[in-house]
Amino acid sequence: MSGMENMEFIVPLEKWYLENKRDLPWRNTTDPYVIWISEVILQQTRVIQGLDYFNRFMTRFPDVASLAEAEEDEVLKYWQGLGYYSRARNLHTAARQIMDDFGGLFPKNYRDVLSLKGIGEYTAAAICSFAYRQPYAVVDGNVYRVLARLFDIDVPIDSTPGKKLFVKLASDLLDKKRPDVYNQAIMELGALQCVPRSPHCELCPLSDKCLSLISGRVEKLPVKQGKTVVKPRFFNYLCISYQGDTWIRQRKGKDIWENLYEFVLIETDKEYSFEELQHTEEYCRIFNGLGKVKVTALPLQKRHVLSHRIINAYFYSIEIESVPEGLSGYIRIPYTELENYAVSRLTHIYLEQRK
Ligand code: SF4
Repeated sequence: MSGMENMEFIVPLEKWYLENKRDLPWRNTTDPYVIWISEVILQQTRVIQGLDYFNRFMTRFPDVASLAEAEEDEVLKYWQGLGYYSRARNLHTAARQIMDDFGGLFPKNYRDVLSLKGIGEYTAAAICSFAYRQPYAVVDGNVYRVLARLFDIDVPIDSTPGKKLFVKLASDLLDKKRPDVYNQAIMELGALQCVPRSPHCELCPLSDKCLSLISGRVEKLPVKQGKTVVKPRFFNYLCISYQGDTWIRQRKGKDIWENLYEFVLIETDKEYSFEELQHTEEYCRIFNGLGKVKVTALPLQKRHVLSHRIINAYFYSIEIESVPEGLSGYIRIPYTELENYAVSRLTHIYLEQRK
């Protein structure tokens, strides 16, 4: 596409943006740290919800140094409820990388930015274009949708050829003189105007150039190849109480909710009743020799959908009269101190409902 043709898109798009953009705190800055944090919080989070988290996070961790110096537990605590905790862990690791490898200064070079833990091409392009006005096109879900519709492209956006094609198209279209404004504009168009269902084409600044509007395929685009298989998992949580205390542990290993805290857990391969659970090897190991335990409340059952997993969780409130040996892998804490530990969103919901 030639520069001249580009201007036909760029001029109305940027004009629309400057007149219609939402006034968000991270838009009024060129500080790469602020832009980075906002981008990561906004991945998979709605702006309204993200705004609260962003403000709290920035108050506690106003710069790279304060984030790098913090304990990971505290960073996770500030993330609690947002989900996708690996993002918070990566932020923390990357902050330390900036301190160690870049003398505490946020890197300026695209490749260096990309080398930071958790920063992919999208975030690197966002930081480099918004903070330094470097000519890198951002390609997020909104941009895929706008481009697929504008150019009436039905190549699946989640396929390798699709990704290549859209990244190339986005770079060709980019306003090299004002990449910051252009990138924000195309994403904002996707967020406000060219929304997934019933886009507001009649108000769109690009409607006279939109090929899918002519072909009548607006609602059919973009095309996605296939859905990932969703695997169910079954978590049986034993919320044990004994003299005002309970037992928790930190999750380890490469699994969901890494480093977050949880109640005593027995994972099963299918749904188990409490009766059946009592016959599992794990249960017998934990409560070895303790005889009968008292289940004081009906189990609270929760279904939690993560990107490629469904967690079926059952929370049992259990009272015991002496401490079984099988709890040695867990830490004993007063129930009232639970709120000092970062827990998954699922457990957080359970605790809120118990109040
Ligand atoms: S005319 Fe409609 S489909 Fe085309 S870019 Fe604008 S909002 Fe999207």
